[in-house]
Formats: sequence, structure tokens, C-alpha cells
Amino acid sequence: MISYSTQCIEADDIEGVVEVLNSNFLTQGAKVAEFEEELCRYTGAKYAVTFNSATSALFAAYSVCGIGEGDEIITTPISFVATSNMFVTLGAKPIWCDVKLDGNIVERQIEKLITPKTKMIVPVHFGGKPVNLAKIHEIANKHNLLVIEDASHALGSSIDGKKIGSFSDMTIFSFHAIKPITTTEGGAVMTNNEELAKKLRLIRSHGIEKKQLWNSDMVMMGYNFRISEVAASLGITQIKKLDRFIETREKIAKYYDERFKSEKLFITQKLDANTTSSRHLYPIILNPELQCPKEDIFKELQERGLGVQVHYKPIYQNSFYKEKFGDVSLSVANDFYRSEISIPCHQKMSLDDAKYVADTFLDVIDKYAHRGCSF
Ligand SMILES: *Cc1c(COP(=O)(O)O)cnc(C)c1O
Repeated sequence: MISYSTQCIEADDIEGVVEVLNSNFLTQGAKVAEFEEELCRYTGAKYAVTFNSATSALFAAYSVCGIGEGDEIITTPISFVATSNMFVTLGAKPIWCDVKLDGNIVERQIEKLITPKTKMIVPVHFGGKPVNLAKIHEIANKHNLLVIEDASHALGSSIDGKKIGSFSDMTIFSFHAIKPITTTEGGAVMTNNEELAKKLRLIRSHGIEKKQLWNSDMVMMGYNFRISEVAASLGITQIKKLDRFIETREKIAKYYDERFKSEKLFITQKLDANTTSSRHLYPIILNPELQCPKEDIFKELQERGLGVQVHYKPIYQNSFYKEKFGDVSLSVANDFYRSEISIPCHQKMSLDDAKYVADTFLDVIDKYAHRGCSF
């Protein structure tokens, strides 16, 4: 099975981990600071605060800007649930903005969703394709709103030659096993704001400030959201290879683009000319007119060795959200969920693998198109 995404662990990653395991510090040592420096160097952001997941990083980011009861946050429904869960748990309400067929939020629809309660805009760079941050910041500045990017897919993506990570108030990355690089589990908040960075470090570790000698003081509510030295070591060796990983994924994506360029039965994600993508996902959008259950296509692709996946069920369609916020229905997000399939695109694939994936995908789609399934 060629999975839609996977980790790539090599000898230097393993050596680094073994070295940490043999050292005195399994946690709270020098590796965390070193990984954070590497993240800053790579993205150009001033501060990086690592966490044990992107989920805890999101929680911390929302918390340090005082998000709470009665606040409204404009966000995309086409994301992993954590994007919304972590502000909903703080008492805020998601205001869903529809997406385009590239999976990204419709930037120009954000403004009409703003109310006096709106505090923040939270976009997601779907699959690694950057959203139009210039437009989002223009709206945010005009209405005095914060922008937090859930860039869990987008470490290594760029706009106008500048890496995602320092555009907004805060930017979150995920280092879950199948994300652009991995620390097994892990995440980070990037920011240029020293005050926010300081609060993020406090919330990550019990809200405790070290004073002199044994004296410490808990100055705010905090948690244990720390990443271990073992995980940070992986981060250090992985980030050195990020550009090579992206180069490989880009080659595969370009190959697919070429193979699929005159397709009528589905579309693929196109990048804006001034941007690059981490290529975390290669999403395919079947023609929404397709009268054939996606389940059949999905099953057959899996039977033929393609570890395909669907990203994502609109967050508002989950039972928890329906119960709490009532029925929501956005037409493109609904269509997107009905039509999206992510096909394999990762750094361990060869071009031969990509050829097999493209051949198989075209074969299966063609078969269903000729089976009386009308498009
Ligand atoms: C993976 C992911 C998360 C959660 O990341 P974890 O590190 O697993 O907590 C959040 N948002 C998006 C968009 C993701 O893809």
C-alpha cells in the first residue's frame, strides 16, 4: 500500500535519538532550544515555542490572546477538528466561512461574517497551499482582529519567497508522524511578538516562572504541554531534510499535474504563481456532478494499493458540533467533502510509484465514468 503521506526516518534521526536516550536529559534540556532556533532560522520568525502537539499549541495560542466565552472566531470547516476544538473548549464560537474548490477559505467572504463579537480569523493552508494572507490581513487590520494560522500542513510553504511562519500574530505547525516533518508527536507556535512568546512558554509549563535558587512562582494557569528532548532531537535532524522532502513531493505533484492536465472528470489543486506548497497533500476533486458513490471508487483504489484518504469532513457535520451549534451547511464545503480524495504524495515515493498511482487512479475513474455513472 502506498499511503497518502508517511514519515521518513533515516540513520541520522535514529542516531540523534539514541544519543539523547544515553544522555542526562530526556526532557527540558538543550535540544528543545536548538530545535526552536532551527524553526526560527528556517521560517524567519523571531520566536518558536514548541509543544507536544499542534493541538496543545493551538490551545496555548488561543489562550494567550484571551479567547473566551462570547467570542466569535471566523474559520474554515475544511480542517482537522482540532483547529476549532481548541477555541470551542475555551468558550468561543466558530463562525464558518465557506471554502473554494482548492480547499482554502474564501478570503473575500470573511468580512461579511464579522460582528462586534469577532476576535480572530483562523485560516488553514489546505494541503500546504497558502491562503491569500495579504487579503486576510487587510480585513483583519481594518477590523482590528487577530490572525492565527493553522499551518499544520504548511511548514516549508511560501508566499513571495517568504516562508509561512512569520506573517501573522501566531502560526501553528504540527510534527505529527505524517506531517511535513515529524517529531513523532509535536507542534510549535511561531510569533514575532515577545510578550506572546513569553506567555506561550509559561502556559506550556504550569505557568511557573523560575526565580532564584529553589524559588519559583506560578503566575498564570499552565499545563504540561512540553515536547521531550527525544522528540526535539528528531525535529533538529528532520528540519535539515525538509527542503529535500519538499523537492521530492514537488516532483511527484508536478508529475501528477502533467498526467492530469487535460482531465474532465476531476480537478486538482492549482497554486498561485507567487506561492509554493509543502505538498503535504495532493487533493483531487471529483467532478461534483459525479453520480457514482465515492465509496466505491475509494474502496477500489485501496484494493489496488493506493492508501487514499479524504480530507476533511466539514467540522460542522460532526455530532458534537451539530448538538452544540445546530445545523450548518455551506455548499462548497459540503461538495468538497463529497468530492475530495487525497492520493499518495510523500518523500519516500519514487517517480515509478507516482506513475503507478496515476495509472491506477485514471484507470479506476475511467471505469466508473463508463459504468453509467454520469458526470
Ligand atoms: C494534524 C493537524 C492538527 C493537529 O495536529 P497534532 O499535532 O496531531 O495535534 C491540527 N490542524 C490541522 C489542520 C492538522 O492537519
